[in-house]
Amino acid sequence: MSSPLVDGFGRIHRDLRISVTDRCDFRCDYCMPEEGLEWLERSEILTFEEIEQVARICVERLGVESIRLTGGEPTVRAGLVDLVGRLSTLDVDLALTTNGARLASMAEPLRAAGLRRVNISLDTLQPDRFERITRRDRLEDVLAGIDAAIGVGLDPVKVNCVVVRGVNDDEVVDLATFGRDRNITVRFIEFMPLDAAGNWDRSSVVGLNEIVSRIHQVHPLEPSTRGHQPASRFRYLDGRGEVGVIPSVTAPFCGDCDRLRLTADGELRACLFSTEGTDLRPWLRPEESDSGQGPDRGHGGLDDQLEAEVRRVVAGKWAGHGISRVDFVRPRRSMSQIGG
Ligand code: SAM
Ligand code: SF4
Repeated sequence: MSSPLVDGFGRIHRDLRISVTDRCDFRCDYCMPEEGLEWLERSEILTFEEIEQVARICVERLGVESIRLTGGEPTVRAGLVDLVGRLSTLDVDLALTTNGARLASMAEPLRAAGLRRVNISLDTLQPDRFERITRRDRLEDVLAGIDAAIGVGLDPVKVNCVVVRGVNDDEVVDLATFGRDRNITVRFIEFMPLDAAGNWDRSSVVGLNEIVSRIHQVHPLEPSTRGHQPASRFRYLDGRGEVGVIPSVTAPFCGDCDRLRLTADGELRACLFSTEGTDLRPWLRPEESDSGQGPDRGHGGLDDQLEAEVRRVVAGKWAGHGISRVDFVRPRRSMSQIGG
């Protein structure tokens, strides 16, 4: 490794999120519209070789220690298990974020290929509500996916729950109890202005303090350490594990952020809320940018240029996303098009 990936505020970047597709088999209301979202062309999407090339440079030259595959829904990308196998040869903590609906059959092959940990999204335990939120009747599949992930020994298995006022905020305690019963951590995520429909407004955000106090009234809690994780963590006083809240709106963790994102079409973004990305494809596909006369893919010189480009993007990272500022500008891409 040459030197760590550090930005202008001294934050060292060790975590890379890779979106493997912008497509999804769900249509969660807070993320995607029912229809009308334009999909990337297949040719625009990075191949596994290209993803591996960026990942290898980030791990071997830039000190990245953890990689999380996401999307869209990563399990709808054909060959995901092969990609996990390739990335598992790197010295990196490999994780997946998924809606869980296909995990019942995929958990074991993914674990065997080298996946270590998984975050599964689950916003409600009520079948009707699940269908309203995701526009799919798949609650049973997701619950089976969670059980499969636990059963094959992925560790940790965490549940992500986006809390939206008037939609599922009355289920915070039920979902916390669900996690306690299975000995897994539930992390409640504040609703962020990244929905494709543009329906977000501040009044629909249920904040950290409200979430914690609702749980605390039923299952008493005490604060735990936060470290580089985005989640504010709390331990149950009766010793039955912990719960987290990702307070991106009311108490952002920007000051400790160590994340970098690669979109499915090869844009590098230093922040989830970056309004622009940096296209890495000119370095990954030199033949497309110079009429086929460029050096071979994987050529050492191109790797050097890619490394320099990643460093340049991180060096220019802003201090924070500024959701609460009056001049905040939403990225044109929504969550599923960036990679959550
Ligand atoms: N499809 C996978 C899933 O749902 O877990 C991975 C991609 S999804 C975009 C990643 C995470 O972003 C999920 O936990 C999802 O609930 C969350 N998410 C999506 N839209 C969001 C929003 N507007 N605010 C907060 N979290 C959001
Ligand atoms: Fe798909 Fe995940 Fe977005 Fe839901 S949150 S629509 S599962 S990408």
